[in-house]
Parts: sequence; structure tokens; C-alpha cells
Amino acid sequence: TIILGIETSCDETSVAVVKNGREVLSNIISSQIESHKRFGGVVPEIASRHHVEQITYIVEEAMAKADIQVEDVDGIAVTEGPGLVGALLVGVNASKALAFAWDKPLIGVHHIAGHIYANHIVEELDFPLLSLVVSGGHTELIYMKEHASYEVIGETRDDAVGEAYDKVARTLGLPYPGGPHIDRLAHEGKPVIDLPRAWLEEGSYDFSFSGLKSAVINTLHNAKQRGEEWSKEEIAASFQASVVDVLVTKAMRAAEDKKVDRLVLAGGVAANKGLRAELTEACGKAGLKLTVPPLELCTDNAAMIASAGTFLYWNGNFADDRLNGQAGLLLK
Ligand code: ATP
Ligand code: MG
Ligand code: FE
Repeated sequence: TIILGIETSCDETSVAVVKNGREVLSNIISSQIESHKRFGGVVPEIASRHHVEQITYIVEEAMAKADIQVEDVDGIAVTEGPGLVGALLVGVNASKALAFAWDKPLIGVHHIAGHIYANHIVEELDFPLLSLVVSGGHTELIYMKEHASYEVIGETRDDAVGEAYDKVARTLGLPYPGGPHIDRLAHEGKPVIDLPRAWLEEGSYDFSFSGLKSAVINTLHNAKQRGEEWSKEEIAASFQASVVDVLVTKAMRAAEDKKVDRLVLAGGVAANKGLRAELTEACGKAGLKLTVPPLELCTDNAAMIASAGTFLYWNGNFADDRLNGQAGLLLK
């Protein structure tokens, strides 16, 4: 089964060709980061325009790189949400046009399902499993009893973890996206500042990062008034220590409560070295099998969308021409 995947939910235009859900024949990613950098974040209008300019070329490139013909394609999978609605619509409309012109079935994929399936490309998923999803817009613990089945057991009540990284980075005067910069600085400093950890109510798998973000800002502010100074490295290390502590502790507790022996990490923040290291250590101690995607499959890409879409294809779960971009699409 060969699925063409299309991803345009945010600031990456990506098209991929994936065979049997695991074999990546091509995965072309065109990032717009340079265009958004000077605004300190993604500008929706600019994102949509870039997608429109790029999509046709990227489809051609993905087909050429995979070295396949239109006849070889079994279905077209596209991110239908969540994301920026104008950006999503570019991918959705391109896939509808291709599905019609090529006479192929159309498959709508949830962006976060895609992030999770990046792990299936690395190592075949087995169930039940728990996924820790950490990205620019999401922080979630998702229980899966089988393929294409999702139970969100915990989620953020305010900022997503990637968002918190980007905001703290901005406060430190680091360029967008700030996550990788904080990660790098964190490894050069010691977590000497005692920052809060939001555990929330007993037994909750939910997250909250806005208090931590404010604590960082207050710490910087108070230090300035007292004439003290923390280095960027110390702030980054302390912030990262708090984030990683909460994420790893909650994921491990959920894995134990849900009796799973497989954990997968997903989303752009899965690129974080501190998180990868601590989760690997904790899973090793608890005897849990952990999968972490390589960097290029952590951030937005279409191979993960094609992989998740393959199971919907096998289940006969097709979309029709009413498929629409949905900014707030829920995972179910
Ligand atoms: P969503 O997937 O929720 O719709 P998104 O697609 O915008 O959001 P991703 O592309 O999955 O998010 O991830 C981008 C986020 O990952 C950014 O916030 C970025 O700062 C963060 N990030 C990337 N690398 C790292 C890192 N090494 N450490 C921490 N954060 C990182
Ligand atoms: Mg992105
Ligand atoms: Fe994403």
C-alpha cells in the first residue's frame, strides 16, 4: 500500500510517499522558519501564502524522489487539523484536487495522530501503549489500545510545552523558535534556581506551564532589582529541569497506572536532549520499551501523516469532498 501524505498545518510544507505505513520512499519538507523569524512567531497569512507557492512543487518532488507513478499511489492522506485554518486549507484543497484528478481515495488525518505515528516508522507500534505528545501546540498523554484509537488521559490546561519554551526563549532574547536554543544553553548551565513544578491535583495527568513561565520572568525581574544576575545558561537549565521533571514523572505514573509496557515520545519538543535522556533513563529503570523518533521525524513532516493515514486506509476510513480544514479538531 502506497500513501501520499500532505502536511501544511503550520509553517512546514511537506509531502511524503510511504509504503505500508513504515517505509519512507520520500519525505520532502520545506520550512518557512526564516520568513517568520523576524516576527518572533508564525504569521498565519504568510504561512498560507508560502504553502500555496510551494505545494505543487513539493508534490512533484516527493513523487520524483520516491520514483513512483500516479498508478502506484493507493490513497492521499492529508492533515485536516488542528492547526492554522488558512494553512490547513492549502493542504486539504491540494489533496482534494489530486484525489479527484488521480481518482484516489482521500484520507483526513489528525496532526497529533501523525506525530505519534512518527514512532511507527522507527519501530512497529504494539499495544497497549502510552504516548507523550509534546509540541508547539500540545502537551498530552494519550493511551492507545490499538491502531488509530486514541484516549487523551491528560492535557495542558494553559500553555503547551513548546509554547512555554518559545516564550521563555523570547524573554531571554533568543531567536524563534527558542526550544532548541534553551535546550543547548541548558546543557551548559546548572539548574541552580528553584522553579515551581505544577503537579496539579493528586492523580491528575494534566499539565500546566504558564506558572513556570511567569516564575522565570519574575525571577529575572527580581534579580535585576536586587542587582543579582543569573546567567542564561542557569535560567535555561533550571527551566528545563522543571519541565522535564514534570513530563517524565507524569508519563511514568500514567504508564504504570495504565499497565502499558510501551511508551512513545512525539512532537517537536521530543527533539529535546534533556527530555530524551531522562525519559530513556526512567523507562530503562521501569523496564518499559521506549521509542523516540529521530529529529527529522519529531518536527512537522508528511511521512508521519502518511503513516497514520495508512491505517485509516486499511480500515476503509475515507473522507469525501466535504473534507475541510479544522483549526480545533479533536483527537478521537
Ligand atoms: P502542534 O504539533 O501542536 O500543532 P507545532 O506543529 O507547531 O504544534 P512542532 O512543529 O511539533 O509544533 O514543534 C515545534 C515546537 O518544538 C516549537 O515550540 C519548538 O521550540 C519546539 N522544539 C524544537 N526543538 C526543541 C528542543 N530541542 N527543545 C525544546 N523544544 C524544542
Ligand atoms: Mg513547525
Ligand atoms: Fe506539529
